[in-house]
Amino acid sequence: MTRILIILFWLSLFIPAASAAAVPVPQLKPGLELQQTPVRVPGPRYFENAVPFPVLKPKGSAPSPRKPVIVIDPGHGGSDPGAVGIKGTYEKTITTAAANELAARLRKSGRYTVILTRNNDSYVKHDDRLRIAREGQADLFISIHADSAGKNARGAAVYTLADRAKGRSKRIVNNQNWIMDIDLSTQTDPVGDILVDLAQRKTESQSDAFAGILLEELQGKTELIGNSHRRAGYYVLLAPDVPAVLLELGYISHATDEKLLKTKKHRNKLTASVERAIDRYMAGL
Ligand SMILES: [Zn+2]
Repeated sequence: MTRILIILFWLSLFIPAASAAAVPVPQLKPGLELQQTPVRVPGPRYFENAVPFPVLKPKGSAPSPRKPVIVIDPGHGGSDPGAVGIKGTYEKTITTAAANELAARLRKSGRYTVILTRNNDSYVKHDDRLRIAREGQADLFISIHADSAGKNARGAAVYTLADRAKGRSKRIVNNQNWIMDIDLSTQTDPVGDILVDLAQRKTESQSDAFAGILLEELQGKTELIGNSHRRAGYYVLLAPDVPAVLLELGYISHATDEKLLKTKKHRNKLTASVERAIDRYMAGL
């Protein structure tokens, strides 16, 4: 019995050592931590063969990249003739012709998706002109007009949104529940205002950039009025997230401008300048 107890005593000394040797405890060097093995969660992401099969498509079927959307807005129309020239030319006649010619030119280039707010002698409300631009996800909105003033004023001008009109722009966003990047209707006013501010700031710099390029392109092709980049609160410039300019092609109240604007040759010079400006602007984005 005593011998058995002695054997058990000696065995008890060796068994812990033997079990410790069987399951080694990782010894960490100072400064290192024991890393946990990542837990695999069952699910489709963790299938063994998770590498997607390559999908072969017939040549030429790849979706073409989205073309920039240019919305052209011929001013006035229908019951609203706009300004009337000294020889009786209606502004709406000039703006419709120039807008359709510009649209044809841009479509022919194949580089743009072109949307006209109207293409015939119809009246389109200002709200609807903006709605068309926003729903079409316009990258650029160009409203086309021909001005009138005293007999001596002549030349083209480009308008962008005036600072003083920005509050009005915010009110329209709220009143019409326009969806910005984030739904303003679910936001408290301060947050909504900040979002509109941010959108406006970006849009303003884009509109200004395009206005500058457009004036450079028009320079030498047509008379420009002094201080040709102007700012105004025109309704069609109010969308806070659509870069927009209003181009006054010239003054139909000036005999020479009216005569020129009635000719397709002169309008071609103008629309070619607008196209070059759009190309340059889009290339720089
Ligand atoms: Zn006008």
